[in-house]
Amino acid sequence: MQIANRLKRIPPYLFIELRNKINQAVADGIDVISLAIGDPVEPTPQPVIDELSRSAADLANHRYPTDEEKGMFAFRKAVADWYAQRYNVELDPEDEVLGLIGSKEGCHHFILAVVNPGETVLMTDPGYPAYRASIFMAGGEPYNVPIMADNGFLPKLADIPSNVAKQATAMFLNYPNNPTGATATPEFFAEVVEFARTYDIAVCHDNPYSEIVFDGEKPLSFLSTPGAKEVGVELNSLSKPFNMTGWRIGMAMGNADLITGIAKVKGNTDSGIFNAIQYAGIAALTQCQDNIGEMLEIYARRRQKILDTFKGLGWENYVPPRGTFYLWLPTPKGMNSIDFATLMFEKAGIMIAPGAAYGEYGEGYFRLVLTVPDQRLDEALDRIKNALG
Ligand SMILES: *Cc1c(COP(=O)(O)O)cnc(C)c1O
Repeated sequence: MQIANRLKRIPPYLFIELRNKINQAVADGIDVISLAIGDPVEPTPQPVIDELSRSAADLANHRYPTDEEKGMFAFRKAVADWYAQRYNVELDPEDEVLGLIGSKEGCHHFILAVVNPGETVLMTDPGYPAYRASIFMAGGEPYNVPIMADNGFLPKLADIPSNVAKQATAMFLNYPNNPTGATATPEFFAEVVEFARTYDIAVCHDNPYSEIVFDGEKPLSFLSTPGAKEVGVELNSLSKPFNMTGWRIGMAMGNADLITGIAKVKGNTDSGIFNAIQYAGIAALTQCQDNIGEMLEIYARRRQKILDTFKGLGWENYVPPRGTFYLWLPTPKGMNSIDFATLMFEKAGIMIAPGAAYGEYGEGYFRLVLTVPDQRLDEALDRIKNALG
């Protein structure tokens, strides 16, 4: 059977490989603890579940979603209100907000809406692997912009060769950043707006970890930058802040032309989000802010435990990440990330994500998640102490 060439350019999705490896080990009777996959283990808040049950029973919601291209107005309005309240960003729910089936869907449809075959798309290295896959599926050419510790894992935009910048039509950014946990600053976002204007580049700021920041850091939206709406969109998601990864609901906001373009792709592809899920999403955005605070306390506690453990094992010369539910730590001196991941798997029964899986500049690092039950984390940290101590 013929499989399209565009798929051959996409490397296997890292986490499918990791899951297969874990399943095989479990089948062999090994008690593997995975610290590799970021997916909240605490339940979705009860008001969201109650609203889904209620809405699912309503016959009106069994039909195609209301306003199938952009999502129902009440959901878009709830998103606009949440953004005003949380990030001081004003959005017109009519033409600057769009419901998504998760932020990953938005990344894909953004590229389809913006990029012609053969055009260059900037993305960071290390970076979220789905960006590259979407660029390939649209026939675009990814260009990797390194992000490194010496610049707080922010790209140095001035170092992007001007011929590349001139060719580029779009750019992915993501802060708080997966995998490095780095956060951005208003000054950096102002540089991004300037750069995007200069080179006429559509920016897609993927911001699903906007709420997950530590040590008093303030949540930040790219759209709060003056001029941001002229150059791009921001994607966000209910997956991470409200423990709703399985529900598949998110949003795109910002430049009205880009929103219209993404909506056109969606109208011809997925016909939108199940109405009952949109009502449940409204419940999350309007009733569950406290739940985020509770999750942050849980993550902060786990984060501290892991940092203390590695400190005790001699990890010192790095800056702890400020956001996301990941920790991005350097591998022991002289050991590459795949070898270190293999050692952790074989000596401790722990699965971690090797930095190299996120790109060339991810080498020399590994990523741990905070989305693991406390007891399992304690067990994992004991094993790590035994294996490395
Ligand atoms: C988890 C994640 C997503 C996917 O979020 P969904 O809304 O569940 O699709 C997108 N981007 C990044 C960087 C992520 O880590």
